[in-house]
Amino acid sequence: MTELIDIIKKVQLTHSLNKQELVSILKDDSSDATLFAAANEVRKKYVGDEVHLRGLIEFSNICKCNCFYCGLRKDNASVQRYRMSVDEIISLAGKAKDYGYKTVVLQSGEDAFFDKEKMCKVISSIKALNLALTLSIGEKSYEEYKAYKDAGADRYLLRIETTDKKLYQKLHPSMSFENRINCLQNLKSLGYEVGTGCLVGLPEQSDESLADDILFFKKLGADMIGLGPFIPCPDTPLQNTQGGTFTKALKVMALTRLILPDINIPATTAMETLQQNGRILALQSGANVVMPDVTDEDCKQKYTIYPGKAGLNNTAQDYKNSIVKSIEAIGRTISQGYGFHNKNS
Ligand code: SAM
Ligand code: SF4
Repeated sequence: MTELIDIIKKVQLTHSLNKQELVSILKDDSSDATLFAAANEVRKKYVGDEVHLRGLIEFSNICKCNCFYCGLRKDNASVQRYRMSVDEIISLAGKAKDYGYKTVVLQSGEDAFFDKEKMCKVISSIKALNLALTLSIGEKSYEEYKAYKDAGADRYLLRIETTDKKLYQKLHPSMSFENRINCLQNLKSLGYEVGTGCLVGLPEQSDESLADDILFFKKLGADMIGLGPFIPCPDTPLQNTQGGTFTKALKVMALTRLILPDINIPATTAMETLQQNGRILALQSGANVVMPDVTDEDCKQKYTIYPGKAGLNNTAQDYKNSIVKSIEAIGRTISQGYGFHNKNS
């Protein structure tokens, strides 16, 4: 226990840990309260008390991929598929702006309907609204990433999911670990703010592999890290597996804050789904971003990555209001800025 406390004190000052030290913290829950408090202090010191809200638009649940963990995978015939039109996406971004968001995040399955031309139209129209724009639409070619950047996209989220190459290959048929890394490097070289992250609690995933994930985030020089527990989803190959725990996901997130003190870290919906008040606990353990869903009711219900997603039964405006209230109740403020990564470390 004292040894773990010493490691936590060290990382709070140096923002550096080796794999063995990370593993020792991940394996032993006896110093979790100290870990979460340290991550909270580092968050306050480097990124302050402001919470950045990003409006999430889930514009298509059609996907050509077959990721074993995801409810939207191509082979899941029980999903009612939908795809918004280019105009619908742009109009929803306008609504998000009216709700007060400064950033919108466009997320979808890997849907080939949205070719370079359509995506660039969406991106440039949203940028004309003076919003910051994050894309989370999967693996694309260098040329496509470049075209989106030239059209005005600011940030890109592409989780590595797991840095265990063998496990990655098992869970992602017809995809390659090398290409995932290549995509992240292309995004970096094109000047995006790059977000990555992992799923916590995948079958066969070890604490050693989670430690590697955290070291990978540092090596990449990520600007944002979004991570959460893996939640088993019906009608997928992993439906009968155990899934991740809230505590383990919170620990990986807190360690990420300690290692990368000034980046943006969302309190993810998966955290809130597994544990009531999970979003607030995450904000008090290192997170500084929340991404409320602004997708219309009908589509939101069909974006079934995993079951029981938090916020499904609220309208976009009600959901935002209740999140704002809970953030202010813990003495934090809502940012009025775009919330770019300020490199302070
Ligand atoms: N298709 C894009 C991609 O894969 O990057 C974006 C959409 S995808 C649904 C967004 C994220 O959802 C993935 O990066 C994955 O980590 C997460 N996800 C998928 N299935 C999940 C599950 N069962 N539990 C928790 N998160 C999940
Ligand atoms: Fe498609 Fe993304 Fe789900 Fe994989 S995680 S099946 S790419 S939506």
